[in-house]
Amino acid sequence: MDFSIDPAFQEKLDWMARFVREECETFDLLFPEPGVQYDTANAAARAHLKPLQDQVKAQGLWACHLGPQLGGPGYGQVKLALMNEILGRSNWAPTVFGTAAPDTGNAEILALFGTEAQKARYLAPLMAGEIVSCFSMTEPQGGADPGEFTCRAWQEGDPGSGSGTGEWVIEGEKWFSSNARHAAFLLVIAVTDADAPLTSRMSMFIIPAETPGVEILRNVAIIGDPDPEDGHHAHIRYDKARVPFDHMLGKPGEGFRVAQARLGGGRIHHAMRTVGKCQRAIDMMLERAVSRRTRGRMLGDHQMVQAKIADSLIELEQFRLLVLKTAWIIDEIEAGRMPHGASRNHIGMCKVAMASVWMNVMGRALEVHGSLGISLDLPLAGWFAGGMGLAFADGPTDVHKSQLARAYLKQASVAPEIFPSEHIPTRTAEALRRYPQARA
Ligand SMILES: Cc1cc2nc3c(=O)[nH]c(=O)nc-3n(C[C@H](O)[C@H](O)[C@H](O)COP(=O)(O)OP(=O)(O)OC[C@H]3O[C@@H](n4cnc5c(N)ncnc54)[C@H](O)[C@@H]3O)c2cc1C
Repeated sequence: MDFSIDPAFQEKLDWMARFVREECETFDLLFPEPGVQYDTANAAARAHLKPLQDQVKAQGLWACHLGPQLGGPGYGQVKLALMNEILGRSNWAPTVFGTAAPDTGNAEILALFGTEAQKARYLAPLMAGEIVSCFSMTEPQGGADPGEFTCRAWQEGDPGSGSGTGEWVIEGEKWFSSNARHAAFLLVIAVTDADAPLTSRMSMFIIPAETPGVEILRNVAIIGDPDPEDGHHAHIRYDKARVPFDHMLGKPGEGFRVAQARLGGGRIHHAMRTVGKCQRAIDMMLERAVSRRTRGRMLGDHQMVQAKIADSLIELEQFRLLVLKTAWIIDEIEAGRMPHGASRNHIGMCKVAMASVWMNVMGRALEVHGSLGISLDLPLAGWFAGGMGLAFADGPTDVHKSQLARAYLKQASVAPEIFPSEHIPTRTAEALRRYPQARA
């Protein structure tokens, strides 16, 4: 294992760290409203954003999640992990660097599965940071379980050569479609062949936001949003929304595959950014511990506070190593040295650990700051509140735990005898058969 960082790349990281601290964190203070990063109609924020994005582009650091074949500089996942740690410190940084979810994943599947026309119309402005997009998959009645999806699509009219007079008609409801209110287009998965096996039952559609029939019923708010009726997670009805035939992303029945292609990346990128945000909370905890006196001693001299600091450092370092190893596995797959799918279990591990590490570290940092911690004078309370969202977004923790355990259970062997294969008396008897003189 070599944990050293190439000096040329370290220079890039140093530039990023300075830039995020000085510029992106300043942006967090100027434009703090939840979801404001996605609001392309916010003229003040957008006017100030553009010059920052230009600086990032000039450094060759724009849209680093995509490889050159997909239109980005392509640093690979291990380097991306180190970069995302820095970006994770600030709410605005991912937008400033062109790596904000869900646009990252949406850009990835447009690049992978899109036609040239789709790329020109949707991917190019998305990559340029001119528009934002929405991924509309979860449904109100069945969550994100594709087996329960009822939103459906069917063909009407003449398919022609793909751009004939025919259309796809989409009907159904979606839930928690983040940022739909600001999106220029939505990627919507819908059932196109209800009788087909699960993995070929659905197709993915690109639906321009202004399409008649795209109806946002409510913008559902979550913890941390100031107004329950003014959130960022849309409950949408697709009321016979019509798109031309050439607005399917991928082939008919390929929706499941297309969706899968974006979810792994999304999960690991969230995990990388979580490392950065938790590190910032630990930095705050350390500063407070050496600054605040109580009962004649600094906070950091009290053993309970020391335990909180130590537990947080250990937990975060373990998580960081897990994230880096997962990133390394993905790079190995990309290089053809590991089989496709080899990262699945590790991505699941990151997904599960992410929310608990976040909640634990944020909770401890908040506690060390006392009343100030829970106040809105510090960012800790807001970060703490956001932790459970991480547990659900991109699939609930419990589902990932269950999938992980089942993957390993499949590989497990049944014990050869009534006792487990590690049964000491049985093994000792075997050892004595091999070495009869050992205890003579
Ligand atoms: C902040 C945020 C942003 C989101 N953004 C988007 C978005 O942009 N687009 C989108 O389509 N969706 C989005 N989602 C939705 C997200 O994908 C779902 O919340 C998630 O998949 C879980 O679905 P659900 O909320 O219906 O919970 P449910 O599926 O009802 O699960 C609730 C609980 O039931 C248990 N459970 C469920 N299934 C299983 C199982 N198989 N095994 C064991 N236990 C189980 C678990 O305890 C789980 O926590 C977002 C969610 C959040 C919180």
